[in-house]
This record gives sequence, structure tokens and C-alpha cells, in this order.
Amino acid sequence: MSNVLNEVLSANAEYSSSFGSKKDLALPPARRFAILTCMDARLDPAKYAGLSEGDAHVIRNAGGRASDDAIRSLVISYKLLGTREFFVIHHSNCGMEFFSNEGIRGLLANSLETAALGDQGFYDVGKGPGSREAEFIDWLPFKDSKQAVVDDVTRIRHHPLVPKTIPIYGYIYDVKTGRLVEVEEATRAGRAEEPVRSPRADDVRIPAQESPATAYATQ
Ligand code: ZN
Repeated sequence: MSNVLNEVLSANAEYSSSFGSKKDLALPPARRFAILTCMDARLDPAKYAGLSEGDAHVIRNAGGRASDDAIRSLVISYKLLGTREFFVIHHSNCGMEFFSNEGIRGLLANSLETAALGDQGFYDVGKGPGSREAEFIDWLPFKDSKQAVVDDVTRIRHHPLVPKTIPIYGYIYDVKTGRLVEVEEATRAGRAEEPVRSPRADDVRIPAQESPATAYATQ
């Protein structure tokens, strides 16, 4: 067995040995929000955002980009599991800034081995064959991390399957300090409209200044 596999299984055995009341957690996230963030190993959303098991959805991909698949998860998150606020959290020194679509396609066409990162960006050190299949994927790299947060928040905001009542906040996690720094333009772009609630029967019967519904029941 590989070392990593051994380590993961033994860590899991220890974790599950004190699982306790977590067995009773509900399926919908208790704190009703979702975070879309990068898969970067330096980021631990549970720690940087103070999450416990059962609190929130965390959707991760390379860059924390609002890809079609990330949006699929966000839609399931609110529509089926009741989340009401979204965060898009990218970070400083993201690997997505160090390549282009053309670059990664060239690397993969050359070989399937891990590339090296030098001053001029990634370069291939592997032996072929590679594959041209990479031509068919948009790898969603970016040059400007703030702009990428704005773009991702804006895309989610305008997606026809995302309700306008969900606020979307845009942040960049600083890998040197652990701080979340707001991208104000993104949060502005992700602002929610006031919730629109159609009047219900009891809204009509009970004017705002009068007794609540329970008072009627006791009279
Ligand atoms: Zn990243």
C-alpha cells in the first residue's frame, strides 16, 4: 500500500473513532450558505471560514471558477438544500495565473507527465506521447485575480437558474496572512435584490400592527 493511502486510512480510523453526535447531522447545511473556492492545498475553508461538519457547502475546483459544473453544484445547493448566500473565494498566488489555455494544451500535447514551473512559467520535461484532447477543454486560467472574482460573481449573478435574492460575496484569501480580503467590485456585482414575497392569506387577514395569528386562535 502507498504511504499516502496508509496515512489517509489511519487518519480516518482515528476520525471515525470519535465521530459521536455527527451521526445525527442533517443533510441540508445548517448555516445555509455555500462557498466556491480554489482547490489549492494551502486553503482550508473549514478553518479560514470557521466551518464545522454540517455547516455549509464547499465547492472546489482549480481556481474556484464559476464553471458550468460549479454552477450545477450551487443550483443544487440552494434549490434542493436551502442555501441562501454564496461566497466566491479565490486566493493570492493562484496557479491559474501561471498558464494560458494554449500553454496547458501544448504541455499536454507533448506529454502526460507533470510539468515543471520556472521563471517563464510551466515547461514540459516529460516524454511523449501526450494528447490533443486538451484542445476541447477551457481550462479557465486568468491573469488578474481580482477581475477573475468579479467575472465569476457576475456570471453566477446573471445565471438564469440563480435567484436574484441570493447575495454573492467576492473575496481573495491571502496565502501570506490567512486573511479574506473583499473584492468590493465583485460583492457589488453580486448584490441581491430585496426578497420578493408574494402576499399570503394570513398577510391579508392580519395587519402588521395587530395580534399575531396565534392570538386569533385563542379568542
Ligand atoms: Zn488557486
